[in-house]
Amino acid sequence: MYKIKELGLTLDIDGDLISNLVYIGKKHYPNEFGGFLIGYYSESQNHLRITDTILPNKYKGTPYMFERDAIGIEDKLNQFYKEEPKKYYVGEWHTHPNNLAIPSAIDIKTVNSIADDPEVSIKNPALLIIGCANNEIELGFYVHFKNKIYRYE
Ligand SMILES: [Zn+2]
Repeated sequence: MYKIKELGLTLDIDGDLISNLVYIGKKHYPNEFGGFLIGYYSESQNHLRITDTILPNKYKGTPYMFERDAIGIEDKLNQFYKEEPKKYYVGEWHTHPNNLAIPSAIDIKTVNSIADDPEVSIKNPALLIIGCANNEIELGFYVHFKNKIYRYE
């Protein structure tokens, strides 16, 4: 379980999902790749459970950049919303091939714009970066909270 002590937030994610994301990411090596994170918050809103991903239909990835388009993902999102518990878009993930799981300036800008987007219903988007510096997988979970980015430990 991942935690941000100062905010009292916790997060968990299935090992199978992580393995799958790592596997998908490796297929796109040396380019960055990623997608949408699906999950739900506890009733108290302080525990996030990430359960699934939706992969983008349209994206651009280079070794140092990843951009996804949300085109055509509504149907998949609706399917998750029908499940019990209801699952919805909670954030984003992408890989950093040959790099640490630290958000770049562009990553931070992207997360800020998601949090500020009135058409996006989440105010605290999560960000997962799968780093792979020196062939070692490192997971970096972050959340945007009141205009700051915090890392889960
Ligand atoms: Zn990045």
